[in-house]
Amino acid sequence: MNSTVTSSPSCADAIDPESISVAQALDRIEATITALDEYEELSLKECLGRISSKPVLSPMDVPGHTNSAMDGFAVPGASLPTQGINEFEEIGVAYAGLPFDRVCGANQCVRIMTGALIPEGTDTVIMQEQAEQLENGRIRIATGHRAGENTRSAGEDIEQGALVLQQGSRINPAHLGVLASLGIGSLKVWRKPIVAFFSTGDELVSIGKPLEKGQIYDSNRYTLYGMLAQLPVEILDLGVIEDQPDKIRQALVDAAAVADLVISTGGVSVGEADYIKSVLEDIGQIEFWKIAIKPGRPLTFGTIDGSLFMGLPGNPVAVMVTFDRFVVPAIAKLSGATASSPTLLKAVSQNKLRKKPGRFEVQRGIASRDANSNWQVSRAGQQGSGILTSMSRANCFIVLSEDIDGVAVGDLVDIQLFDWN
Ligand code: AMP
Ligand code: MG
Repeated sequence: MNSTVTSSPSCADAIDPESISVAQALDRIEATITALDEYEELSLKECLGRISSKPVLSPMDVPGHTNSAMDGFAVPGASLPTQGINEFEEIGVAYAGLPFDRVCGANQCVRIMTGALIPEGTDTVIMQEQAEQLENGRIRIATGHRAGENTRSAGEDIEQGALVLQQGSRINPAHLGVLASLGIGSLKVWRKPIVAFFSTGDELVSIGKPLEKGQIYDSNRYTLYGMLAQLPVEILDLGVIEDQPDKIRQALVDAAAVADLVISTGGVSVGEADYIKSVLEDIGQIEFWKIAIKPGRPLTFGTIDGSLFMGLPGNPVAVMVTFDRFVVPAIAKLSGATASSPTLLKAVSQNKLRKKPGRFEVQRGIASRDANSNWQVSRAGQQGSGILTSMSRANCFIVLSEDIDGVAVGDLVDIQLFDWN
């Protein structure tokens, strides 16, 4: 270690000239990663949450035929009265799934249920409540109707050939419904990337064992598990690795042999027991190792033998912040998903927030809407990067970009609501 005392930037505060910006880090991640080129054909339900591997075009019109949007009477629009009232002869009933199979003539009508095909000869549905049924079975309809009303045209939802699912979409419940409405029973999706993770630290104990003096329970593997479980990935929990270069090297080599992405936490600072960067230099390729972000500055990103590696910081909040900001887009790229940035809302800060310009900062906030439905946000307690309880109380990140130089009460800030709210 260098024994000279210098005034170089300390980890806690000043801006480090060796750090790259958040945007540069994201560009490097994007440029380094190529999507997996492996797919699997799954039945429709199994596709939920997975990434579509190709665009899906509709093989047909939906609805397939013009049908009724209401319970009522199907009539020829030409027979509707232009003044006064017209009487119609009811000649039958059309049910959803059981069409009326004759032709309706002038001044005749067919009782019709929602979803039933519009009978030949008719083009308009008069709501039941707007028609008068006489004792003799005849139907009276007054003026004020528009020909074609209360019908759903063939193809009005989806036209044959229309794009219904883009390549790279994460398949959601509405997509499942649309695909089902087209009779599509299976789909080719991207294979799930395999993501392995481990914690490093001699002080770490896995839950189930008693703590000795100076030891702490490993919480990072649980937050990581929780965040990974929301993504379309296979998860491999590799436990705790001691702060020894040989053990870390072995763990990385073994993990890279089975996983597409390896994530570690801890050991990325410049302390005496921080070996991640030097081991990666040995066995792989470093893309970057410091980002101008708080919390989360030391983050080592690189490759080992064709696998990706992300060495996250050890502090529990830094793990969650860097996961959200860097690991999520890395996994998206790897798994074939279309890139998207987090949705930000503007909220009125209820607190004064200290912030240095020149680096990106993420604080934990509690957002709500005020009486006028405007978003407001308060700090969710202490902001130290080891204080996980403020993270668990929070429902959003307060996202402060590089140029911001502190926030006053009443200022508008960007917030990012947590996905798991
Ligand atoms: P490090 O980056 O290894 O220096 O760790 C920074 C801080 O985070 C230290 O206080 C560690 O004890 C703590 N830490 C590291 N890994 C974990 C973990 N898996 N669970 C909880 N705290 C951790
Ligand atoms: Mg450590």
